[in-house]
Amino acid sequence: MSTLRINAVQQTFSRKPIPVDESFTRSELFGTNVFNEVTMQHYLTKEAFKSVMSAIDKGTKIDRKTADEIAGAMKAWALTKGATHYTHWFQPLTGGTAEKHDAFFEPTGSGRAIEKFEGAQLVQQEPDASSFPNGGIRNTFEARGYTAWDPTSPAFIYGTTLCIPTVFVSYTGEALDNKVPLLRALQAVDQAATAVAKYFDKNVSKVNATLGWEQEYFLVDKSLAYSRPDIVLSGRTLLGHSPAKGQQLDDHYFGSISDRVLNFMRDLEQECMRLGIPVKTRHNEVAPNQFELAPIFEETNLAVDHNSLVMDVMDRMADKHNFKILFHEKPFKGINGSGKHNNWSLATDTGVNLLSPGKTPMKNLQFLTFFINTIKAVHDNEELIRSSIASASNDHRLGANEAPPAIISVFIGQQLTKVLDELEDVSTGKLSPKEKTDLKLNVVGKIPEILLDNTDRNRTSPFAFTGNKFELRAVGSKSNCAKPMTVLNTIVAKQLKEFKKEVDVLIDKKNLKKDEAVFNVLREYIKSSRKIRFEGDGYSEAWEREAAKRGLSNNKTTPVALKAMISKKAIAMFEEMSVMSKVEVEARHEIELEEYTMKVQIEGRVLGDIARNHVIPTAIRYQNTLITNVKGLKDVFEKDYKRLASEQLDLIEEISNHIAEINSKVNEMIEARKKANQLNNSQLKADAYCENVLPYFEEIRYHCDKLELIVEDNKWPLTKYRELLFTR
Ligand code: ADP
Ligand code: MG
Repeated sequence: MSTLRINAVQQTFSRKPIPVDESFTRSELFGTNVFNEVTMQHYLTKEAFKSVMSAIDKGTKIDRKTADEIAGAMKAWALTKGATHYTHWFQPLTGGTAEKHDAFFEPTGSGRAIEKFEGAQLVQQEPDASSFPNGGIRNTFEARGYTAWDPTSPAFIYGTTLCIPTVFVSYTGEALDNKVPLLRALQAVDQAATAVAKYFDKNVSKVNATLGWEQEYFLVDKSLAYSRPDIVLSGRTLLGHSPAKGQQLDDHYFGSISDRVLNFMRDLEQECMRLGIPVKTRHNEVAPNQFELAPIFEETNLAVDHNSLVMDVMDRMADKHNFKILFHEKPFKGINGSGKHNNWSLATDTGVNLLSPGKTPMKNLQFLTFFINTIKAVHDNEELIRSSIASASNDHRLGANEAPPAIISVFIGQQLTKVLDELEDVSTGKLSPKEKTDLKLNVVGKIPEILLDNTDRNRTSPFAFTGNKFELRAVGSKSNCAKPMTVLNTIVAKQLKEFKKEVDVLIDKKNLKKDEAVFNVLREYIKSSRKIRFEGDGYSEAWEREAAKRGLSNNKTTPVALKAMISKKAIAMFEEMSVMSKVEVEARHEIELEEYTMKVQIEGRVLGDIARNHVIPTAIRYQNTLITNVKGLKDVFEKDYKRLASEQLDLIEEISNHIAEINSKVNEMIEARKKANQLNNSQLKADAYCENVLPYFEEIRYHCDKLELIVEDNKWPLTKYRELLFTR
């Protein structure tokens, strides 16, 4: 075995779990590092507190004097927690989070110093924006970008740093991050949903979109991970033969968790508690060394911040526990990939989940309204949803046979399908008293009972209704939930706005009662959105064919999928709903394409390097051993050697063949990359990488993996799948 691999495996076996301090209960820890309502009440004057709360609830502005007071309070609180620095924390378009740390410490001259942090530093900062992508926005507009405080997500302390959640915008106000469009989409859906919810309850004055994400990930021992250049540089294995035992036995799922992993999880959960992230569940996932973390759902902006933060915390915590965490959607070929289910719903400030059926027919009509409008929104914008979850890494998962397909469809279950079928038959115009009673008693009135025993939960649907929420399952484990959440909330907002318009017309012009008008519009939506509903096996080939017949999109690769973002229709909607301007959408599209190209480019380089510098030399060395052996046999046995060395001779030839194939494929791939690099249109370049470069990966890998099976285990330089996946 190569020394790197030997050392890595030995280190792994000698690792003991890092002990965890368990002297605090979870509830004692919860939110202790968050500048939350309770803390604010303690540290702020009544006026300042009111001002923050109104900014959170109503989006009102905070004046400079109050900002100074809040900054002072934050600083005082942070210093009691041992914080030494502060940072504006934001989510750039490259993914992950970014921060620039500044010390509170400020010399005052004459050898003294104070801790300084004022409103000005809280409200706005100007990070060096040049290293963040902007899709050309800052070239066309203004070079600078700045971060601005988002009071709707509370400040928190991470390590010794006070982190202030912020938005990141260009000097002329264009969004340069994932948060700005999300906040705008959330405002749009609040407005539209509140207006519709008022049909059913006049007291509703705000609707919050809620998000509960489920984060899947792999844990690999740190030394093993660092012995693989592909994992280090691209977050996934680019080659490696599948182990004799994969996940066929399903013994990992809900199996016992090793002490090392358990201690990591405990430590992680404690940190999450301190940060006020309400994580709750943990269990093994389908694949070996795959796990999941999920919190209780929260308001979407906060939930998105928490997910971004938690990924960072997980990364560091894994490192502390001698693991490398893999968020990649498909780190291992042939092994289940990772996703990030986005559970989504709408909740009113009166405490009602709008996607939860109620006790009265009126409440159920409200439920049906939001339920059907969501289906209609997804129907009208399926391609845009697909684009919001597109990435180079998620391409390996979507459409692979154990993951949601690249086709977006909605699953609602047999019982609700029956309800929609019945609603489709509602008469046009005014309803007879008999029909109304009938609807009340037999259709709308029956819903809660139906849902109680509605257990057929289809696991293969990318967008499923699960009792009181929709679950978007096609989101990649690595991605920022802000992207799909921006799209989902925008399309639902737009849809609800249209709905309200149509219902109002029927009420005002056709003299229909409110519920009659609602039934009438819903009936048409059910009909016109029928093709998005699918109850069968989403992983099957039959569905691909059926979906094609229905005219649903099936965009398998990112460069193709992203096109929906910049369609006339999408841009018009983003502009109408004040979520993004044309410039912002186009900039994002550009960035996503560049990101795609870069990812494939890096992987191509890494793969070429491993194949040339690791695999081929190793194969040659082993081949030489075989040659020496054959020569020896010839010396000893003379004429009869051919029979005795037949296996070796075959192998020598096979090795040469594989080496030749690898060599020529790597050369061709490099040529394809060179050609692609000459293109200066980002769409064409991404297309070229997707169509002309990427296909070589599988071919090169095939021959490398064959060599892995041939070459003596001791000589193989790369840590193998069985070691990566079954060592704990
Ligand atoms: P699974 O998909 O693994 O079966 P569940 O169906 O139990 O898991 O989903 C639980 C997830 O749904 C949790 O993350 C939870 O926070 C989230 N969730 C539950 N209710 C809502 C809601 N009203 N809005 C958003 N997310 C919700
Ligand atoms: Mg789920």
